[in-house]
Amino acid sequence: MALGMARGFLDKVRLDGTPRQHLEIAAIVGGIVVVAALVGIGLRSAGLLAAVSPANAILLGLMVRYPHLATPAGWAAGVAAYFIADLLTGNSLLNTLLLTVASLAGVVAGYVLLQRESSATRQLVGPMAVVRVAIILVAASAVAALFGTIGNLLVPGSASFTGFVYWLVGEFVNYLAILPVMLTLPEGLIRQYDLKSRPDLRQIDFLALAPAGALIIACAAGLFVGGPAALMFPLVALLWCALSYSVFATAVLTLLVGIWTLGGLALDVISGWPDLDEGYALVSVRLAVTLMGLAPLTVASTMAAHEGLRERYELLAAHDVLSGLFTRHAFAERSNQVLAQAAQANMPVAVLMLDIDHFKKINETYGHWAGDRAIQTFAAVLKNTLSDGVLIGRLGGEEFAALLAGASPSDGAAAAEHIRQVFAATPIDLGDGRQVEATLSIGLGCATQAPTSIEPLLQVADEALSLAKGGGRNRTVRRDLALAQMQPLAQANARSAR
Ligand code: GH3
Ligand code: MG
Ligand code: MG
Repeated sequence: MALGMARGFLDKVRLDGTPRQHLEIAAIVGGIVVVAALVGIGLRSAGLLAAVSPANAILLGLMVRYPHLATPAGWAAGVAAYFIADLLTGNSLLNTLLLTVASLAGVVAGYVLLQRESSATRQLVGPMAVVRVAIILVAASAVAALFGTIGNLLVPGSASFTGFVYWLVGEFVNYLAILPVMLTLPEGLIRQYDLKSRPDLRQIDFLALAPAGALIIACAAGLFVGGPAALMFPLVALLWCALSYSVFATAVLTLLVGIWTLGGLALDVISGWPDLDEGYALVSVRLAVTLMGLAPLTVASTMAAHEGLRERYELLAAHDVLSGLFTRHAFAERSNQVLAQAAQANMPVAVLMLDIDHFKKINETYGHWAGDRAIQTFAAVLKNTLSDGVLIGRLGGEEFAALLAGASPSDGAAAAEHIRQVFAATPIDLGDGRQVEATLSIGLGCATQAPTSIEPLLQVADEALSLAKGGGRNRTVRRDLALAQMQPLAQANARSAR
């Protein structure tokens, strides 16, 4: 419940600057960072995952992922949280102060550098995003290590170059493991996966779970095989996950594999490894396991960029630039889906084919540009007069079509007449003070039962349109699709075979 409320607040971006809001921000940031710091301290004192201290990465992640938290109140609550956690666990005041300054210096450096990146990079989308973020995290870790080492000068005998390197590596490992999860947190995570509703087993796509299943098997296999293969098995499965899942899911799985591997090594359950005493060997393994995660993350973020581009181009290809309506191909494709549903529901359908009268004259008299304005005005009339669910396409030139699922012939005729009258009464503004008026001819194609393809309907609507033009224009003519043409192909074949 508290988690749900926190998420709800995290997703809301409303900055009205009320005292209540400052308090909410401070409570969210402070609460999360205290818990993170206590978990880190707890893990360290239990000797488990000795180097894990998630607080810095979580504070940095919160500020970057939820910019509305990066207020003075938010930052102050973060600092307070470091103090509270360290003092609660019995650290001395001087030590707490030195640690907090070093941690905060790293977080601020990371924050400033990440703010300079594009929002796509901050969300780990794009082939170079992971590399750029990783470099920033090295820099942030170096700043923390520098401040930490300078602070250690105050404690005689404890500052050294080795200490600096260990600090840098430890900080970097934490950042690299946790920050990708924070940066890619999807919006409305809790609401998206409603924990109370039971999953419907029939709706689970088991094939989509295959990469995750392979990852579990790879982790188990690594346990038995031991040695360096214990790292490589999960890496291969993680690459498959990265090709199939979102950047966020990949980041979570990479983090879990890292915890599993480092935990397994710490507890000595992965065979075939030399004893990893505290010191160089352990640091090296930690670094290796964390850096390994860069590969699946890079694959996932490249895939995300690729997917984004594909969606963008699909959208561009499906829409006509001038009118913003569907292109002929996209209109036909979507129409066939609508018709399949209408056929199942035994619904009637109507298609309007609409063509501006004497359009060539507008082009010739006022210029091609004025013709474009007429096309745009007509597209706007279509969008405004037809309800939202109606498919509208520009078939070419000044010829448009609309598919009305569930419309009887009289519904179709009423819609056509309404559009014709509205367009006739809408002057086309040429933008230079001049206005032009134009009329429409409409062919209405009707079917009492939806056919399986839009083509025969367009054909009768086109015939009706020709009749409307021949009959003097500025009118609607209706033609019905003959029942024989509406038979599904399978039935027609069955009859001819008999
Ligand atoms: P009718 O009343 O019989 O429909 O005559 P019309 O002049 O409207 O029809 P016709 O199909 O003969 O001419 C359509 C013209 O539309 C021909 C073409 O040059 C022009 N056209 C096609 N696409 C565009 C466009 O995107 N912008 C402009 N301005 N003109 C276009
Ligand atoms: Mg025309
Ligand atoms: Mg035409």
